[in-house]
Amino acid sequence: MDLDPYGTAAPFIDGAVQAVTDGGLLCVTCTDLSVMAGGNYPEKCYSNYGGMPVKAEYSHEGALRLVLHTIATSAARYGKCITPLLSLSIDFYIRVFVKVNHSPQETKHTASRTGSVYVCTYCQTHAQQPFGRAIEHEGKGKQGVRYDFKTHSGPPIPQDGCEHCGNNSLLAGPMWLGKLHDQEFISRVLEDVETQSSQYGTFARMKGMLTLAKDELPNAMFYFTPAKITSMFHAQCPRFDQYASAIANAGYNVSRSHASAGSIKTDAPRALIFDVIREFVKENPVRRDKMSEGSPALKLLDKPMQHDISFDLHPSIKGMISRKELVRYQMNPTENWGPASRARPEKKMASAAAAAATIENDAERALAEAATTVLNPAAALGLALEETDAPKNEEGLDVQELMDAEDVVEIDGSSRPKRKSDAEAEGADREGKKAKTLAEIDEEAMMNGM
Ligand SMILES: [Zn+2]
Repeated sequence: MDLDPYGTAAPFIDGAVQAVTDGGLLCVTCTDLSVMAGGNYPEKCYSNYGGMPVKAEYSHEGALRLVLHTIATSAARYGKCITPLLSLSIDFYIRVFVKVNHSPQETKHTASRTGSVYVCTYCQTHAQQPFGRAIEHEGKGKQGVRYDFKTHSGPPIPQDGCEHCGNNSLLAGPMWLGKLHDQEFISRVLEDVETQSSQYGTFARMKGMLTLAKDELPNAMFYFTPAKITSMFHAQCPRFDQYASAIANAGYNVSRSHASAGSIKTDAPRALIFDVIREFVKENPVRRDKMSEGSPALKLLDKPMQHDISFDLHPSIKGMISRKELVRYQMNPTENWGPASRARPEKKMASAAAAAATIENDAERALAEAATTVLNPAAALGLALEETDAPKNEEGLDVQELMDAEDVVEIDGSSRPKRKSDAEAEGADREGKKAKTLAEIDEEAMMNGM
């Protein structure tokens, strides 16, 4: 079952989880990333997805987790559980593929896979607060593994501010805390896509994104970019391979995230991620004199290091950066590419008025020319009107074109209908038609010798 409406799929999710067959695939697209991943509509995000958005550089992964949370909790009401197979944040929308199974037993794990997230307002350190705990026990005889389900303790962060920078944290979620992808499923999709590569115009991008998703660390939440972390320290930025190697050399796993170019996903603690910069600034000093006393940047810098950092290239990172043929992150084909903000009526009116004014000027100019060259004024007026008959053909021009009244007048040759909102341009056109009719009458009268 595929939900792909324009905007949010939230109103259709409850019906979809009921309708999908046992073991069936549910695909959901939501194009309201500004609600799910922006800071401007938290109330709308909660209404649609039952959770608050993440306000950090990893907000797009937060959006994926919010939608999965909506699907998981909707399904749980009907004794169904979900298994995310592939969860993608692409350009300006998200698309998730989940398997839905009827399993009241498995549904019991929903609470321990759901939780809130605290996000520091300065250093973006995140801490998860799951709602439930599933405690595993070895069963006796044929019982296999059994679980006890408990509530969870909290909160997971200190009461007196972030442990790294001292700032406050914002609450996000509840959201899905489980896995985003099923690696085995992605491998099968990749194999299938590769056998039909000539069928897909966007094969290179599909392969790049599927490979990124497949290689993502399954149990790590969120990601970071070296550029963002170094900006918090007011420091210079290490290269991607240096940063990733430093984490791998400390014994932690590293991958990229498909959701952001240049991002790193890791199971390393935030303290290690910050220690990498503390080590880096030893060779690349920062301007401490530019930082104010007690600023979070200074607090981050002055925190004692807890790890030994080595920037030597790690073998696993070599593999990550060497595949140059892979299209990992598609860049926008042109500047300002993507959905623009909605056209505002007053701008349209302004452009229409400008177009109307240009028409009047053209008509006046033609009349003046006709008068000086002793042409038939009526014929000149007819000519002027013919030249400026364009406004009724301007339907469908984009906002940029509408902003430029000169272009509006020049575009000609199509028979598209007039814009309803172009009241003034329409008015000018009507006047023109009336004048043209008079000109024709005048011409006819001359031809008839009257
Ligand atoms: Zn912090």
